[in-house]
Amino acid sequence: MANKISTAKIIRNFERLSTFTNQVKISLINTIFSKDISNIFDSMTYLPQIISAYSFSSKDRFLTYVKIDTQSDPKSTTSPSTEKQKDLAILLVKEFHELGIFNAHTNEFGYVYARLESNVSEEVPAICFCAHVDTSPDCTGMGVKPIIHENYQGADLVLPDDPSVIIRLNEHPDLQEQLGNDIITASGLTLLGADNKAGVAEIMDAVAFWQKNPEVKHGPISIVFTPDEEVGRGTDHIELNKIDAVYGYTLDGEKRGHLENETFSADGFTIKIKGVSQHPGFAKGRMESALKIAAEIVSKLPKLLLSPETTEKMEGFIHPVDMQGQVEEAQIDFILRDFDTLKLIEYGNLLKEITFKVLKNYPNSSADFIQTEQYRNMNEILKDHPICISLAMEAMKLAGLTPETTSIRGGTDGSRLTFMGLPCPNIFAGEHAFHSKEEWVSVQDMQKATETMLYLAELYTLRGIR
Ligand SMILES: [Zn+2]
Repeated sequence: MANKISTAKIIRNFERLSTFTNQVKISLINTIFSKDISNIFDSMTYLPQIISAYSFSSKDRFLTYVKIDTQSDPKSTTSPSTEKQKDLAILLVKEFHELGIFNAHTNEFGYVYARLESNVSEEVPAICFCAHVDTSPDCTGMGVKPIIHENYQGADLVLPDDPSVIIRLNEHPDLQEQLGNDIITASGLTLLGADNKAGVAEIMDAVAFWQKNPEVKHGPISIVFTPDEEVGRGTDHIELNKIDAVYGYTLDGEKRGHLENETFSADGFTIKIKGVSQHPGFAKGRMESALKIAAEIVSKLPKLLLSPETTEKMEGFIHPVDMQGQVEEAQIDFILRDFDTLKLIEYGNLLKEITFKVLKNYPNSSADFIQTEQYRNMNEILKDHPICISLAMEAMKLAGLTPETTSIRGGTDGSRLTFMGLPCPNIFAGEHAFHSKEEWVSVQDMQKATETMLYLAELYTLRGIR
């Protein structure tokens, strides 16, 4: 083929990689893959055979992990926010050691790091797989009793410890695609913890696969398990130099085949109102209550548009999350969200406009505005790294799935990692009904997520480009 590049050239390029910056490594990979990506697949016939003979361990690992309470706590000021998250971290390190990965370790912040060394002679860029060990503060994770509903046939899943918790097909349309599969749920009193212990189990299973099948070639693979993702602090103490990878992938998504490459862009917005305080008995014509001004501003917010309760998909919103004050001073805190970062400026301007309109009736009062960046749509960075997305999509195809890129109406650890210099989209983990007693995951989806990682690592080893 005319556009084929020689192995010698690739090896020459990669021999120099260790001295290059990540930026240069990334552009090198882009160049190499975009020249001849189709050939990679020709030599991948042996991997499906090995996978089909493998007995997946993700189910058993998952059943163990969910019984360990790792709920994080937004009110805590420590890192990790709860000590109990370390119980799972310690177990994971032990499991890595049992699998022969002796560099695996945890630290005082509750992170787990491990690295599989490359088993090919060419230098292959490192990739990272990431999941979080904590579960949501929204629903208890203490005493989780996982139940396996084998060969699901569409009937309501009534959870035995609280029969009022029922997982119905019509309320969980993704169950339609799970007929014949084995569904794992909690027992009705707790969440399940599939978010994100499904991801942890899937990654550990992939590691077990590579360790048990050393003939399967792969480059360096970093694994990191983070605490406190659910309280927005999963990357606070992360050490990117330890991860030392060109691309990362969180395994923390919902439906099989989905790859999330977009998150909201997010700002905080505060309006500080100064009113005029007077003794209420003598206030006529003089008092201007900051509380009433604040209430008027909130009442004038758009209702049918731009509210969380009236928007979906790619629509953004302005959302008041806190309001407090007295006659003299009041404050309203908002969150602004949109996939288009520029819209956040518009939303801030709209809030200013509303405020000034209200203040027209309060001539001696004033307002200050503070707009602060919270996080940004990771696609702003990922769009410049198409290979990071396209290889994950190809890997899902190789695992027999129909891949689709989707967006998250929120932020992820991956969006923060992306802006810290590790482009990091989110691969499905099969988690459904997050943060609730109705949470479920299927055994078969967990296996497909593991398979996706196996193919993805294979694609990165550049096999077949000769
Ligand atoms: Zn999660």
